[in-house]
Amino acid sequence: MGMDDIDSPRGGCTTHFASTLVEKLDKWHVEWLDYPNLIRLNPNIPYRTRGNGAVALRFRVEANAIPEILSETRRMVEGYAERGYPNTNPGFVMVIGKPPEQVTALAKLALWRAVPMAAAQRITDELELKHFSLGNGRGLIGALSAIGNLLLDDHTYEYLAYRPIDTHSRPRGIDVDSVVEMDRIMGDRVFSNIDPSSGEILIEPHGPDPVIYGIRGESPEYVIEAASYVRGAQAKERWTVFRTNQGTGEHLTHRVRVCDLRPYMAALVQGEIASAPLIIEGGHVVFSVSDGSGTIDCAVYEPTKNLRETAHMLTIGDEVRLHSGVRPASSSHGLTLNVEGLEVVRLSEHVAVTNPVCPQCGKRLKSAGSGKGFKCSTCGFRTREAERIENPVARSIREGLYLPPLGAQRHLTRPMARLRMSNSGLPTSLVEEWHYP
Ligand SMILES: [Zn+2]
Repeated sequence: MGMDDIDSPRGGCTTHFASTLVEKLDKWHVEWLDYPNLIRLNPNIPYRTRGNGAVALRFRVEANAIPEILSETRRMVEGYAERGYPNTNPGFVMVIGKPPEQVTALAKLALWRAVPMAAAQRITDELELKHFSLGNGRGLIGALSAIGNLLLDDHTYEYLAYRPIDTHSRPRGIDVDSVVEMDRIMGDRVFSNIDPSSGEILIEPHGPDPVIYGIRGESPEYVIEAASYVRGAQAKERWTVFRTNQGTGEHLTHRVRVCDLRPYMAALVQGEIASAPLIIEGGHVVFSVSDGSGTIDCAVYEPTKNLRETAHMLTIGDEVRLHSGVRPASSSHGLTLNVEGLEVVRLSEHVAVTNPVCPQCGKRLKSAGSGKGFKCSTCGFRTREAERIENPVARSIREGLYLPPLGAQRHLTRPMARLRMSNSGLPTSLVEEWHYP
């Protein structure tokens, strides 16, 4: 069963709904085939509530229980979702058996493209899938995409602790020291707990939602152990461990030429800096990149802090690979790459050229005219033998990968701590070239 957008900014979220549904499903003696899956989708999609995460529950059950499960789930969704809020469009889908190829293909696409609602509707119609939706039905895209992403490649886990719905507006009161201690004890087995650049605690969300905290890590055992160290003012009402694509970089697996970029894509774009980075109002850094197929404006926004400073040190001719989301053109700008990660592939060589020094008086020589060598304006020395001196300009950045601070990273961003880590035995990022058909 896949579900998405069962939430609203006033409280509630899809994972919390899924957690209560898991408990409800016990009634039908389901046999669980996996942890609940939390699937993050393309983070560049504008119409979404927090985080763009959908959930899939995978289980085995007697066929004759299915109609009852469906009607009960529908009743629960209708009771849970806050309607009348324009960005809440819950969707629910059931696939019986192995996810069909159309569903897995849609799931791949939803990681990095803007999937039209009609595509999800067509699949549910053609395959006659049991489904329902509220609002405009956009939640069906995420619901299908969650089912279709079997997390066969790299994956991680998240332990989510929830509080009772009547305490959502109160402060969570997480004990910062306990989080620091947990992070120290657990090491690389968990990730993205604290932003070392600011000291900010990242396990705690800020909205009035039911989540008290979430701990991300490499195995269910690790995140459960980590949670046992965290102290807070609020009592847990429930908790659930999700298997997820968070921290895997799964959205950035397509290398796209500039001429093939389309709005909302999550794309790797490789090219040379074509115009020098500038700091603009608001502290954002802008520059442009060319790859032979075209040139595109790029923006590194202020909240990315050190990434923005790195970008500012680039110069024309440097070769970069940008981890980016494509912003559509508007009246004030063309198609723009929103940079969320930066690989410096090759730094261009810049040389500073100076004239030699006078051997008689030590002053800097001047050119005596084209092909006439140098002369000294202080003592009158002249020479045709001396040559101009070329000194390579020292660069303040190095080749390599740069990411924003942990607190500014996306749920899907592969953090530095997981750079060479994979839970699947497969390489961490299988990048494919993509050309517009
Ligand atoms: Zn001289």
